[in-house]
Parts: sequence; structure tokens; C-alpha cells
Amino acid sequence: MASPPVDQSGWRADFPILQRKIHDMPLIYLDSAASTQKPQRVLDAMTSFYAQHNSNVHRGIHTLSEEATTAYEAARDKVTSFINASSRQEVVFTRNTTESINLLAQSWARANLRGGDVVLLSEMEHHANLVPWQLLRQQIGIELRFIPVTDEGRLELEALDALLDERVKLLSVAHVSNVLGTINPVELLIARAHGVGARVHLDAAQSVPHMPVDVQALNVDFLSFSGHKMCGPTGIGIFWGRKALLNAMPPFLGGGDMISVVTLDEVTWADLPHKFEAGTPSIAEAIGLGAAIDYLSEIGMATIHGHEQALTAYALEACAQIDGLQLLGPSSANERAGLLTFTLDGVHPHDIAATLDERAIAIRAGHHCAQPLHARFGIPASARASFYLYNEAWEIDALVEGLEEAQRLYAF
Ligand code: PLP
Repeated sequence: MASPPVDQSGWRADFPILQRKIHDMPLIYLDSAASTQKPQRVLDAMTSFYAQHNSNVHRGIHTLSEEATTAYEAARDKVTSFINASSRQEVVFTRNTTESINLLAQSWARANLRGGDVVLLSEMEHHANLVPWQLLRQQIGIELRFIPVTDEGRLELEALDALLDERVKLLSVAHVSNVLGTINPVELLIARAHGVGARVHLDAAQSVPHMPVDVQALNVDFLSFSGHKMCGPTGIGIFWGRKALLNAMPPFLGGGDMISVVTLDEVTWADLPHKFEAGTPSIAEAIGLGAAIDYLSEIGMATIHGHEQALTAYALEACAQIDGLQLLGPSSANERAGLLTFTLDGVHPHDIAATLDERAIAIRAGHHCAQPLHARFGIPASARASFYLYNEAWEIDALVEGLEEAQRLYAF
């Protein structure tokens, strides 16, 4: 048995909800890949906005509106440095990763792709990075290709030779799989795609919250992620793109705030990033995300990643002792992010989740918005435990005991 990773320095105590009891037991939250919990300072930042500064942004010439605008735009600056974007104009606030990818499909791709052009995805994509492209296929007749996934849950890189040709105009893949936990070799993929003249988008919903991500070092073209998966609130996401590409793209949604001049006959667009932010934005949510970024940055993304890898190594070793537990994804912790997806022979994933809930342990059961990937592995559903900085080794011990209990109750 590996020695348990050191339980870090009270991060758990920063999260009020983790002081809660469920069925009289301390809450063990292992569902952060779906949505993370929020530290007190994120809640405080949002309450303070509503209590002291609430107003619309960019429009009013009064003190509250100026304060709201300053705080909203300061959040953009925090995102800019968090992902090392070269300009704040490259950072577009959306509602979530899903909306960011729809923006990419309906603005950049619709303007630049023609029938017969190829968008290359993979078999491990979340529906958010699949369905927008299926919609575009229906709308303009693009072709979709998929990088296969190996039995160990890695991308089959040997297939790239046959898949990547001059017809591929965009490669759009998950940086980290929300089911397999695999950290994909994105530097290699980006170089290969650029080699045939394709643009690259990374679905970074499961990477930006958990590890350092530097868009300039990656040399990627577009990137999407969600605030609620990184200690921030729901309702705020990020779409990042290179400035030259964003400048050349048409707006996605039309309305207030995204225009320069409107007459009854004509309209011109606002400068970046406002061209892509139609209507009243999620102001308190952006400010909450800014507070989350401050919190994560003070701890350090490399430290968070290291903590999650130590927990994952510990959990992998513990789970290997459970007969009948089939793990999806690579078996070594340093190839994967902090989540474990598995099936238990003879036990339905929903029964696993219900048994664990009796012990105040929250995990996810189902297809995790990745039905084609489950079909690839010939299973309808799986159970997923996912970790974040606030998880500690004792919670993994409790998970393992709960899984053994589910086997005793249900396995036949
Ligand atoms: N992409 C990946 C890899 C995800 O894990 C998720 C959420 O689980 C999404 C996209 C969609 O995120 P959201 O629902 O915040 O748009």
C-alpha cells in the first residue's frame, strides 16, 4: 500500500459546504469533475458585489456602474494572466465551456469551413465537444473524423497519419478526458495539426482547473473552460482565441454591448472582446471567478496538480485491491488527472452511487456526457470519483470501504 499523501494544510476548511454533515457524517465530495465547491472568499466576493456595487456594466455614468465595470474587467485581467494570454482582448466571457464551443462552431467554423472540410475530434469527447460539430455537419455539410481510443484509454496516435490531411481545418480535442482522466499529449497534437495547416481548439474544461495551462507555450489557437469547475460560480465560462483569429470572426450572438454603431440599415461591431459578449453579462459570476483565480493562484496550480496526482496514486493502488473493479483509463497516476472512472462487476453504477451516498460520499454515476466513449468500451454507464485540492487521503479510504460495502450488498 502506498503511504497516504500528506493531507495539505487546511484547504478543506476554506470550503463552507465541506463542514456540512450528510446523514450525520462529514460530507465527502468526490464529484468535482462535474462541478467544484466554492471557497468562502468566492462567496464573499459575490455577496460584496451585490451588497455594495451591484449595477450593470459598460453603460452607466454613475459610480456603481463604474465600480461594477472595473470589477468585471479586473476579472478578465485575472483570467488573462492565469492562462498567459497575450492580450486581455483575447479573453471572452461566455456561460460555460459548452457555449464557448458553440461560439467556435457557429462563428469561426461557419465562416471558414465549407462542405467537405474536416473537423477532427476524438472518441473520448464530452458531448459539448461533439454535438456542436454534429449540428454544423447538418448545417453546412462538414465531415467529422475521430481519433480512436486504445483499450488503455489513450488516443491512438498511430491513426493520425491516416486522419490528418489537408482537408482537416480544425482539430478539437479534450486536453484531459472527463471519463478516462487521460492527459492527452496536446503539444504533439497541436504540432501535427499545424503541420497540415489546421487550427487547434482545446476543450480545457478538465485541465485549466487542475494544472498550469499556458496558451502561448502550448501554441494553441482556441481554448475553452468553465468557471464552476475551478472553484468559481456557475454561469461563467471562458472562450480564448488568438487575437487575429477573433478579429476576423463574425459575432456569435447579436444585441446590446457588442455593437459600435447601429442604424436601422446597418451595424458595426464593438472591439474585442465585447464583439462576442452580447447583452448583460454574468457580472457577479465573473467577479466570483476572479476571486477563485486569486485563490487557486495563491496555492499554485503546480501544487494543486501534485496534490491530485498523489491522491490519484493512492486511490489507484487502493482500488487495485478490490476484486471486480474495472478501471477505465491509464493505470499510472502521472499520465492522468485526479479522477477515477470504473465499473464494479455485478453492481450497477447507480447502486454504487446510492450506497456511497448513504455514507455521505458524493460520486457520479452514468455516462458523464460521453456516450460514444462508453459505447467504445461496451458499457452503458460507469461510476466516477473525482478529486480536487480539498480532498484528503482519509476520504479515499472511506470510498474504498463504501465500494466494498456496495459489493457485499449487490454483487451476485
Ligand atoms: N468538456 C469537458 C471535458 C467536460 O468535462 C465538461 C463538463 O463536464 C464540459 C466540456 C462541459 O462543461 P459545461 O457543462 O460547464 O459547459
